[in-house]
Amino acid sequence: MSKRDFYEILGVSRSADAKELKASYRKLAMKYHPDRNPDNAEAEHKFKELNEAYGVLKDEQQRAAYDNYGHAAFENGGPGAGGGGGGFGGGGFADIFEEMFGGFGGGGRHAGGAQRGGDLRYNMEISLEDAFKGKQAEFKIPSAVSCDSCDGSGAAKGSSPVTCGTCKGNGRVRMQQGFFTVERTCHSCQGVGKVIENPCGNCHGSGRVEQEKTLQVNIPAGVEEGNRIRLAGEGELGNQGGTPGDLYIFLAIEPHRIFQRDGADIYCRVPISMTKSALGGRVEVPTIDGGRAKVTIPDGTQSRQQFRLRNKGMSVLRSGSRGDMYVEVTVETPVNLTKRQKELLQEFESEAENNSPLSSGFFKRVKEFWEDLTE
Ligand SMILES: [Zn+2]
Ligand SMILES: [Zn+2]
Repeated sequence: MSKRDFYEILGVSRSADAKELKASYRKLAMKYHPDRNPDNAEAEHKFKELNEAYGVLKDEQQRAAYDNYGHAAFENGGPGAGGGGGGFGGGGFADIFEEMFGGFGGGGRHAGGAQRGGDLRYNMEISLEDAFKGKQAEFKIPSAVSCDSCDGSGAAKGSSPVTCGTCKGNGRVRMQQGFFTVERTCHSCQGVGKVIENPCGNCHGSGRVEQEKTLQVNIPAGVEEGNRIRLAGEGELGNQGGTPGDLYIFLAIEPHRIFQRDGADIYCRVPISMTKSALGGRVEVPTIDGGRAKVTIPDGTQSRQQFRLRNKGMSVLRSGSRGDMYVEVTVETPVNLTKRQKELLQEFESEAENNSPLSSGFFKRVKEFWEDLTE
């Protein structure tokens, strides 16, 4: 994917000075900030782009490198790799650049150190009936919330975090390496710019505590196994004012004792008696919507024959329509016959004539097969 020009992203000319850069960055950052544009992927992308562009152009040396080499200056093995040669520790030129720009594309760390919270996954199993009609589900997840005792600051009551002495509050420290200045995250404060001298007893200085959170989710009718539902902003808390992550609910559908589902269609396997299959009749079957349907079985029905009930299948996600239901019959051979029943069947058999065309046809083919072998 081709990257946009950093100056273009910031909406300034190539000769813009630091003041102009900053003013333009601020204006655009306000416009595209995720807090102002929740659930707007385009704004999120622009915000990241903006931070990346400003992160480079605000620094004189990085800007010079960008002016000379373009984006290639920040890629492994770009033109810069030959220019600098080795000699910077073991890593060489490209590694130095990586270190300088570490965290690029990693969620806008250059925006004052704010980091988006992680996404969470929650597995939820629902019944086929609920998948059919949709459901308002409530569930609990363990979650980190801002600590009440210290209002999330992490510092004990009556105190507040103080400016980090190592980085003077910048969150980043600069080091001279050869003729390059390398900037890295301050180890004393992990880039926050402030340190806590007197940590809050309730959260041990982290500013957050574990708490069970009750969430509600609206599961639409027609969901399928493996569908995901996103609850925006219900993931882990962000760091240093970063936006929270999202929570993804992964749906599984419980196996049903009567129905099998195939996409929008529902199958119901119904065993019927031999006499019903031979003489014909009716069976009553349940439907997924809680109703009943009568299926007419014609005489001479065979095993695995299917009968379609239109629009009696599953609901189709966000369409308001329904699939079909298929009733598939299996003919059950009678068992536990009484003496009288056996006699009746023997009598039936004695009068049999062309009652089993499939069977007679098969054995006719078998006979021909054997005859062909002996020729
Ligand atoms: Zn606390
Ligand atoms: Zn620091």
